[in-house]
Amino acid sequence: MRSARSEEGIDCNILCVSDTEGVRGTEMTEGACSHIDAIETVKHPKRQECEECVKIGARWMHLRVCQECGTTRCCDDSPNKHASKHARASKHPVIASGEPGERWLYCYPDDSFAEY
Ligand SMILES: [Zn+2]
Ligand SMILES: [Zn+2]
Ligand SMILES: [Zn+2]
Repeated sequence: MRSARSEEGIDCNILCVSDTEGVRGTEMTEGACSHIDAIETVKHPKRQECEECVKIGARWMHLRVCQECGTTRCCDDSPNKHASKHARASKHPVIASGEPGERWLYCYPDDSFAEY
């Protein structure tokens, strides 16, 4: 059974929602920020290792890739937290997970997260 009235209602809702998102792209729509929006191609780790930990012989838990300079460093669960130290020191805002099978981005200054 079809009702012409309810179909009209659905159409209107879809149009209204997409209009709003188009205009206010930066206002907590999906939790992503302008830094993440600006990324067109996600950088992946060149090697499966934290380049800072390798230098000092330390261990790491998970790998994160700086989306500004493409370097690979370790996550905040790792003892040295090289990825967040690098983000703060260099003001490179966005990292991607360097773990196989994980497809997400994170922005430090905006604390925003997006899957891709
Ligand atoms: Zn951001
Ligand atoms: Zn490290
Ligand atoms: Zn960087």
